[in-house]
Amino acid sequence: MFFPAKATVAKVLAVALSVSTPAWGAQASSTYIHAGTLIDVDAKKSRSNQTIIVSNGMIEDIVNGYAEAPDGAQAVDLKNATVLPGLIDAHVHLLMNLGPDTQMKALTQNDSEATLDGVVNARTTLMAGFTTVQDLGSRNESIFALRDAIAKGQVPGPRILASGEAISANGEEGSVGCSGADECRRVTRAHITAGADVIKTAISGGTLISMGAPPSRFTAEELRAIVETAESMNRKVAVHAHGIEAIKFALKQNVHSIEHGTYLDDEAVALFRKSGAVLVPTMMAGQVMEAFAANPMAPPAFREEASQFTARLVAAAARAKRGGVTIALGTDVGAAVHGDNAQELPLLVRAGLTPMEALRAGTIIAATHLGVDKLTGSLKKGKAADIIAVDGDPLADISVLLDVDFVMKGGVVYKGGQ
Ligand SMILES: [Zn+2]
Repeated sequence: MFFPAKATVAKVLAVALSVSTPAWGAQASSTYIHAGTLIDVDAKKSRSNQTIIVSNGMIEDIVNGYAEAPDGAQAVDLKNATVLPGLIDAHVHLLMNLGPDTQMKALTQNDSEATLDGVVNARTTLMAGFTTVQDLGSRNESIFALRDAIAKGQVPGPRILASGEAISANGEEGSVGCSGADECRRVTRAHITAGADVIKTAISGGTLISMGAPPSRFTAEELRAIVETAESMNRKVAVHAHGIEAIKFALKQNVHSIEHGTYLDDEAVALFRKSGAVLVPTMMAGQVMEAFAANPMAPPAFREEASQFTARLVAAAARAKRGGVTIALGTDVGAAVHGDNAQELPLLVRAGLTPMEALRAGTIIAATHLGVDKLTGSLKKGKAADIIAVDGDPLADISVLLDVDFVMKGGVVYKGGQ
């Protein structure tokens, strides 16, 4: 176990989320960032000619005009750029790499190899402008060790909140199984004590095997026991669900988010509204399903369905958006390519979000969903200096975020800014 058993939840979170001075990376005593345009996702507007003053990893102040950096402070010239908060991805798999050998690797790769893959993927993610991610489904010890090494500044990467292995009824696909409400409570508690920041449950199986599967392998009592136990330890429960019955079943047990939500309908939208659950649509994952659709060995009904998967995910997100459901950005990278996370932003716009709404889904709304909005998610005095910059105007063309030129996390510059 990575954490001593007596470690309190507060301590665990403090380690995971702390703004620490890394062993590498340039960090002056204070940094003055001159932003030509600054996007304020709290106020939903942009402002021109701003100075962000960063010290000790935090945003000390944001002032109008270009304030001159005092002696000893570092100045970063982003006068020709658009500056915005570091992006947040609420659904990644940092230890997984999509490829022809994905399934073989799941069987043969040991924890050390998986962890080293995660180190590479974490760096790639950070360089793409994602300064915080939630990992929903990776081997416990590997992902918790990676999270903590990044928090200590030992390796570059985004802040990570991690579920570790998913909890399921049968323990399939690398998850931990539990049967009966008591055992589900015990497993949930053990998971959180081992270091989980969030609980991920798989109630109806993965995409590939969920067609024709029952809506849930958990009973309502079991899933509710998981939710109540998680809440009692200040954690949320994210549920992987594609099918409409699985989505509605989960929402009725008051889970906190539905991941994917592919076949949601208006009744599900009403349940989202009633429970306050968040939808994380992961539309990028549709690409993978479409690739499977090209496989002549797959059953025809599956191929037909898989070939339309992105369109289905976009339609589901669009329906949720029209119905007023809270949508947070999540990509399922691992089942898509690490570093391509920003591709989810144009998909959110395709689903009917304005560019500002899409940006908010990938910043302040995701931060609130992850429970880290006091720390990050917007450019605001007192928050961590998680700051990125791009050429062009994301509010006119969201795809400019596919090319991030400057990345600062916790006051440390990881990319650009020379
Ligand atoms: Zn996933």
